[in-house]
Amino acid sequence: MPSLPKWINDTLENVMSSKFKECTVIHTESVSAELRLIRFASDLEDVHFEPAYAIGIRVNEKDYRNYSPFNFNRNNGTFDVLFHLHDADSAGSSFVKQLSAGDSTKILMPRGKRFFDPNAEIHFSIGDETSLGSSLSIKEAAEDIGSSFVCLHELEESSTLKDLELYGYYAPKNDIQNIIEALNDFLKEEKQAVYNNEAVFYLTGNGNTMSVIRKFLKAKGIDGKCIRSQAYWMEGKRGM
Ligand SMILES: Cc1cc2nc3c(=O)[nH]c(=O)nc-3n(C[C@H](O)[C@H](O)[C@H](O)COP(=O)(O)OP(=O)(O)OC[C@H]3O[C@@H](n4cnc5c(N)ncnc54)[C@H](O)[C@@H]3O)c2cc1C
Repeated sequence: MPSLPKWINDTLENVMSSKFKECTVIHTESVSAELRLIRFASDLEDVHFEPAYAIGIRVNEKDYRNYSPFNFNRNNGTFDVLFHLHDADSAGSSFVKQLSAGDSTKILMPRGKRFFDPNAEIHFSIGDETSLGSSLSIKEAAEDIGSSFVCLHELEESSTLKDLELYGYYAPKNDIQNIIEALNDFLKEEKQAVYNNEAVFYLTGNGNTMSVIRKFLKAKGIDGKCIRSQAYWMEGKRGM
């Protein structure tokens, strides 16, 4: 999302007022040193939600940042977001750090391209800290329709996966070899489902890592229609 002058952002919020909702922080929790979970409450009755949709949060006068809601509960009017506080001074982290229960902020409601494939037998979500929210929403949707879910996350701490009940493959940060080994294990274990195009791979997170994984999967013969990808951040690029 490009940085825009304050008056343009103010105008957009007015012109597109139906797309924004006032949201109140009702709970905050540190999941790890770099991960903060926040629960928001709002009137969500008329809001459409799909797994891996993103909300837009105005983090200062000029900038919005995208984040992935999960536990999206239209009836209770609540949703959760897991924020990766990768750099205490970045616009997004600075804004999120100071949010506490009772604070209100206008949020651009979930939107995005259709990502989740309801026809898949196995849903495999691959990414990093920024992908945990999407993984949780994909997991929920997969379980609702009785299909399988598996995930692979590149993280500082492996215990985060257990804390979030996201049982799956763990890879330490910046260790592509470890990711490739985990993918090889999965491809061997689920050979038949993969051959039948019944497994769908959802790649999110670091754009550079994603492109290595995408190339690897293609080289292993995975059909392009079974790979869905969206970069969430790239080295040196602000606010994707
Ligand atoms: C559709 C979508 C959904 C997303 N969902 C989530 C989510 O649920 N949770 C979440 O935490 N993020 C999510 N992101 C990613 C988040 O929007 C970016 O990480 C964003 O850049 C954070 O803004 P910032 O102001 O903190 O950093 P910026 O000012 O945008 O970036 C400053 C620099 O920091 C680096 N950087 C940016 N993000 C990271 C990172 N995560 N780790 C390490 N270095 C980084 C880059 O080199 C960048 O140049 C999502 C992005 C998209 C597009």
